Amino acid sequence: MPSLYELPITNLKGVGETRARLYQKLGVDSVGALLRFYPRSYVDMSHVFPIAHAPLETPCALRVRLLSPPVETRVKGGMLLTKVTVSDDSAFPLTLTFFNNPYIKRSMKMDTEYLLYGKITANFLKREMTAPEWMQAETAPAIRPVYRQTKGLTSRMIQENARQALSLLPDPMRDPLPSAIREQYQLCHLRYALENIHLPQDMLGAELARKRLIFEELLVLQLALLRMKSRSRKASGIIFEKDTLEEFCARLPFTPTSAQIRAMKECTADLRSGFPMNRLIQGDVGSGKTAVAAALCYAAAKNGFQAALMAPTEILAQQHFSTLSQFLEGTGISLTLLTGSLSAKEKREALSGLENGSISLAVGTHALLSQGVHFTNLGLVITDEQHRFGVAQREALAGKGKSPHLLVMSATPIPRTLALMIYGDLDLSVLDELPPGRTPVKTYAISSDKRQRAFGFLRKHVRQGLQCYIICPMIEESANDMASVSQYAESLQKNWLPDCRIGQLHGKMSSQEKEVIMKQFAQGEIDILVSTTVVEVGMDVPNAAVMMIENAERYGLSQLHQLRGRVGRGKAASTCILVSDAQNEEAQARMRIMCSTSDGFRIADEDLRLRGPGDFFGSRQHGLPELKIAGLLSDTSTLRETQEVARNLLREDFSLEQPEHRGLRGEVSLLLKNLGKN
Ligand code: ADP
Ligand code: MG
Repeated sequence: MPSLYELPITNLKGVGETRARLYQKLGVDSVGALLRFYPRSYVDMSHVFPIAHAPLETPCALRVRLLSPPVETRVKGGMLLTKVTVSDDSAFPLTLTFFNNPYIKRSMKMDTEYLLYGKITANFLKREMTAPEWMQAETAPAIRPVYRQTKGLTSRMIQENARQALSLLPDPMRDPLPSAIREQYQLCHLRYALENIHLPQDMLGAELARKRLIFEELLVLQLALLRMKSRSRKASGIIFEKDTLEEFCARLPFTPTSAQIRAMKECTADLRSGFPMNRLIQGDVGSGKTAVAAALCYAAAKNGFQAALMAPTEILAQQHFSTLSQFLEGTGISLTLLTGSLSAKEKREALSGLENGSISLAVGTHALLSQGVHFTNLGLVITDEQHRFGVAQREALAGKGKSPHLLVMSATPIPRTLALMIYGDLDLSVLDELPPGRTPVKTYAISSDKRQRAFGFLRKHVRQGLQCYIICPMIEESANDMASVSQYAESLQKNWLPDCRIGQLHGKMSSQEKEVIMKQFAQGEIDILVSTTVVEVGMDVPNAAVMMIENAERYGLSQLHQLRGRVGRGKAASTCILVSDAQNEEAQARMRIMCSTSDGFRIADEDLRLRGPGDFFGSRQHGLPELKIAGLLSDTSTLRETQEVARNLLREDFSLEQPEHRGLRGEVSLLLKNLGKN
């Protein structure tokens, strides 16, 4: 199917520039990508209920005729209300209500049979359905796919486009899965799978299609990961003979927790083993990962090697740089910051220092990956908050040395078994203990009518010399988060807290501007920082004691947990205020969980349970590509099977060059290419 990935989506009938842009939002840019854009679920209209026996409050399909023509009324506020009375053979009347839909009166006809899909509600007097989906029974497919949609692009449009895309499949069509594997695992052909995932004749067809596509997706993922990791099996000449752990810990301004010591020891053993370290450190927010990273950087320098620490944002890189400068002060170890915003002169100095070896440690952003950055003897690579980085970027940094040791730090707690599967042969250290003296952050959920009281609460804290964050609502559509932040901050200053020093931080600011604000906040010159989620990652200001999050329902649990982790880092008791008016059950469940626990692993579990693994892993939590169909939790047995198959395949044919493996090779390179874009 490779050539269909090169066929722009505009080749489909009815897809012009406008619709193509909407498709872009869904990540679909080619006909091939559309075929790989699978439905999320199906509406099964093959079971039609008689109205009299249809379940209440549960979506179901009905087959009806109109008892009288649609009646329109205007209600207060100008809203158009259309009521239609229908019935079926069970002779039970049902009233349909539609809002602001002039189309109904024009198009719903007497003497035509319609299929409806919706929830029936009932009281003593009558049964009703509000805004059901409807279509002419004659032409309706028995099973309708439901796609992820975006405003202006409905599931039905996508279905029509997919139907046409299917007709463009080459005939005969090659299947990337070798037939031997298909036979062994009883998987259908790709053509059947694509046809039945988009336009199933019955649910069994959809199920067979799913099974095969999940298998293929996970197999390709495993192949890609194994090929990237294969470098780690090679022995390394990089051995840190000298154990510098005690020496380093003596320099720390605090006593390391036993979890930190354990992690440091596990890493140190790796560094001396003769094989490159490949380790993941998982630690909840505030568990002190930076000190572990610093210990390893110290070890590298004292053993005559260079180290690079890469962070996902400029703010975080700067913060790490200053923390490490503090820890390493007086050791003679020279370090440099390397970010996009250095002046030309600073940059020149940094680059030459790294190239001639006079600088041992580089702390930076992805600027570290640029072509001009060379190391004399890079022995250690650390990436922080790695879910922000693509796996490929991590590898690119490692590529600047000869099989250097690799440490990945992640604050996204993932259940251990899952982590081991995703990260394959990365070893795992867990920081399951917080430094002493922390009081858990008290969390409250409030509705927006209590906002004024919340501002009073903030003021009280500011009067005590403490600081606060307010996370502003994101405005969907636009990449421009500035409007919301500055409007919010201005109104706050003018109307609510004129006596507080209020600062702003948002993605549209240059990194210098951000740095200035961050510094002011860190030095206590700003009382309340109104910000977007740019503060989410790693910011460490111990004097901040209140985190107020607007539109809290818009964030996933893990992200809320990250945001909350910005407070509770100092001595003062801290509070997190979640502001939300969301009524839906799921949002409220999330608020309840946040209020009831501060355990990151529990929150991760709940997040998985509520959102489903597809979403959880879809949102780039770990630098893996978005899975289109498989769930890492729900499909664990397939995950294991494909791990096995992938290992065997690569053992037999590492570069996948044999003719029957070429299709797979194509899919693997496509995945790696997309990973690079991450
Ligand atoms: P994270 O794991 O979220 O990256 P940090 O490394 O930023 O956490 O550490 C959070 C805060 O805790 C920092 O202010 C750090 O100096 C402090 N800290 C780390 N380890 C200890 C410890 N063992 N005792 C006391 N404070 C510590
Ligand atoms: Mg951190």
